[in-house]
Amino acid sequence: MKRILLWSGVVIGAAAIGVLIYLIRSTCVFGNHVFTPATCTEPMVCTRCGEQEGEPLGHVFGEATCTEPSVCLRCGEHHADPLGHEWLPATCTDPETCARCGITNGEPLGHVMTDPNFQVRSTCTRCGYTAGDPLTPALTGRTFRELQIGEPAPYTTASYEDRDVDVTGSAEITDYRVIDGDETFPAREGYEWHIATIRLVFDGEDAQSHGAQSAYTFGDYYILDNAVAGREGEDGMRTFAADWYGMRVQCWQKTGATLENDWVDRELHFTWEEGVLVPKGYDGVLLILYHFGKAADATRLYLPASEVLDEDALVFRMK
Ligand SMILES: [Zn+2]
Ligand SMILES: [Zn+2]
Ligand SMILES: [Zn+2]
Ligand SMILES: [Zn+2]
Repeated sequence: MKRILLWSGVVIGAAAIGVLIYLIRSTCVFGNHVFTPATCTEPMVCTRCGEQEGEPLGHVFGEATCTEPSVCLRCGEHHADPLGHEWLPATCTDPETCARCGITNGEPLGHVMTDPNFQVRSTCTRCGYTAGDPLTPALTGRTFRELQIGEPAPYTTASYEDRDVDVTGSAEITDYRVIDGDETFPAREGYEWHIATIRLVFDGEDAQSHGAQSAYTFGDYYILDNAVAGREGEDGMRTFAADWYGMRVQCWQKTGATLENDWVDRELHFTWEEGVLVPKGYDGVLLILYHFGKAADATRLYLPASEVLDEDALVFRMK
């Protein structure tokens, strides 16, 4: 009887152990789940009983680029399309360029250069880039006698009675002003008057005996000959041309008031105003006093500058 009990115990114990092993291996009754790792979209799941634990990991989306979509770095799931390039237009010096990634397409446009002129260098019409030098003025490097305001300079011309007789006096620019216009010098849109007051004084025996005849014309620092008209129009204006930013621009000259034309204490005085109507800021006009003997006849006083501008001529730049 004791033996039977013993064997029964052994059998029951073995069976119990077997059941226990089965339960541990095949079920989760002891909480011994067999979890798969969590994924982006699924929490940990027991392969045996299906129990879930924790939370899904969630996607880890990479940044989309111009050419690559946004995808999950873990599972590869598509999130967003490529952004596409953000093209900045090509410029003179840079090709079409993506503002985001810097990739380029095509070639720079290249500059669109103007010809240089006397006022400005060659300039790109698109971006304003400049290169080279302005054109060289016609009088660059030429030496001539330049009148300064308020500083009399010796002036030799012909006598009034005989063009072969020289008389010497002095010439002075006593005043110089720039105005829009007045009663004598009519204003014009875009233009300004440059007005010089010229004073000639002849005090020698030669002038007292024969008088003096002055001669003057107008030239241009940049183009030398400005084609000043010999005859004045009905309004007292003579036309001439300036070279202004590469364009031939019409200008006008007008002789203003005579302030002196007298003998004063045995001195012969001439004082008068000369105005030129030029584009605002134009600095090229030359008032040239020359020897009257150079004028073939008195009706052709407004000679081209190139015919009278020599080392004896007096030049005032009306700038
Ligand atoms: Zn389980
Ligand atoms: Zn994912
Ligand atoms: Zn891009
Ligand atoms: Zn350019």
